[in-house]
Amino acid sequence: MGVKTFEDYYNRLKKMRPNIYIDGHKVDRTDERLRPGINVIRETYDRANDPSFEDLCVATSHITGEKINRFCHIHQSREDLLKKQLMTRLLCHRVGGCIQRCMGTDALNALSVVTYEMDQALGTAYYPRFLNYLRYYQENDLCANCAQTDAKGYRIKRPHEQDDPDLYLRVVEVKSDGIVVRGAKLHNTIAPYADEIIVLPTRFMTEKDNEYAVAFAIPADWEGVKIVARHAVQHRRKKLLAPIAEFGDAESFTIFDDVFVPEERVFMNGKADPRQTPFAGFLALLFAHYHRHTYTGCKPAISEIIASEAALVAEYNGIEREDHVREKLCHIISTAELVFAAGQASAYRAERAPSGTYIPDEILTNAGRKLAGEEIYNEYRILADLAGGLAATLPLEGDFYNEETGPFLHKYIRRNPRISPEDVHRCFRLIENTLVSELAGVMQVAGLHGGGSPQMETITMMSRYDLEKLKSIARYLAGIEKELPRYERETVTPRQMLERFRKLYGR
Ligand SMILES: Cc1cc2nc3c(=O)[nH]c(=O)nc-3n(C[C@H](O)[C@H](O)[C@H](O)COP(=O)(O)OP(=O)(O)OC[C@H]3O[C@@H](n4cnc5c(N)ncnc54)[C@H](O)[C@@H]3O)c2cc1C
Repeated sequence: MGVKTFEDYYNRLKKMRPNIYIDGHKVDRTDERLRPGINVIRETYDRANDPSFEDLCVATSHITGEKINRFCHIHQSREDLLKKQLMTRLLCHRVGGCIQRCMGTDALNALSVVTYEMDQALGTAYYPRFLNYLRYYQENDLCANCAQTDAKGYRIKRPHEQDDPDLYLRVVEVKSDGIVVRGAKLHNTIAPYADEIIVLPTRFMTEKDNEYAVAFAIPADWEGVKIVARHAVQHRRKKLLAPIAEFGDAESFTIFDDVFVPEERVFMNGKADPRQTPFAGFLALLFAHYHRHTYTGCKPAISEIIASEAALVAEYNGIEREDHVREKLCHIISTAELVFAAGQASAYRAERAPSGTYIPDEILTNAGRKLAGEEIYNEYRILADLAGGLAATLPLEGDFYNEETGPFLHKYIRRNPRISPEDVHRCFRLIENTLVSELAGVMQVAGLHGGGSPQMETITMMSRYDLEKLKSIARYLAGIEKELPRYERETVTPRQMLERFRKLYGR
């Protein structure tokens, strides 16, 4: 069976070549600073082996018919997309934040569509190669980072225009049995404790950017790969143990120092075959699209975590029935529900690509992700508002258990008389984790930029949305046009872009 355990995963990590760098030192994957992030990934294995989550966390492989972890699955139906979204939401609740393993799933789904299309259009043989890789991935229940974001240098310039050609990852040599790549991918969540790194292009490429149109997958400890990790964890607790304190994450600068990638791991190579270059943009867009759809599962969860803490602290503060409190809680809950609904609706409107993979509606996915990104700081603001200043000034845990200071701290932390001082302490310790810890800072920026900066959602939506058709309503109401054809927005998926590619290649 393809569903493995956490122990299987962790044993693999232990055997990997140490190529992680933290704060100036090379370390292996058992380094304690990575453990909180690894604990997050543990949830994805434990729940797939938990009968009460099996319906969500286990799927059936379309290539082997075996039961597999849903994080390794290619969406074969609308229901698959809905289940992925709900699974993401529920697992994020359990770890108090990002579940991290989704980006490998999103990269695989994007590759499944684009490798198939390239083969159809160009006569390449990427799709069978991808399926071989997928089989290996599913059978071993692997965990991958998607390394998409390049260093990018001077933002306004294209890859080939940069002073230093390595500011976008590129193919420096094509060999008979593979390619050699050089560059760096930034902000790589999970990379320090992933089995694999799946590298995708970050943007559309022009005919002058052929060497940058590249996609491949390699083991994360592959020769020449250096993972410079930046971990974010919660304060260590000794007495007030709680799930939230066990979790964290790590991002990385992943450096590819002339890395040889064997042919069977390469899924796009514009340097060898410039006809592949236009597909780089399609792949970049499709990964972002799947990732934004996943965000319609995780972001509602983050909003609900924030709302749950806001509601609890309001109760503890004795202000829960105040109108302004209910209004603020309602605002966060509404956002969570709307973002989730946008993801659900985009799954219901999903279309099947020729590869068999389902692609959600683009307008709804982006609208949901955009709302989540715009609201995220507001939600943290509401929590900070209702919690008061203590989340930022809470004395350290040890002082609550010191003979001299402990009794005073427990006396003066009390609020609602029905609530024990320890529970008030627990509540504020949790809010400290959510609002003012180093992990909180990372999550806030991730809420804004993850899956692409807010502007990218606007660009995607506005380049797809049929404004002419929209304006027909105004033209009719103003009497400029006599008739108003039945107005209904068509489903918009990257499939339409695919159609444009087809025309380009005469199919
Ligand atoms: C916590 C976290 C985890 C992440 N995990 C991953 C990961 O695992 N894998 C991965 O690939 N990526 C990951 N990302 C990266 C994320 O997708 C990027 O941060 C995002 O795409 C923005 O890119 P950037 O950070 O380079 O910002 P920039 O692109 O530099 O954006 C900064 C500003 O410049 C604007 N801008 C940029 N270029 C232009 C232009 N040409 N014209 C006009 N305006 C422009 C943007 O709109 C934005 O306002 C992660 C990010 C975070 C914060």
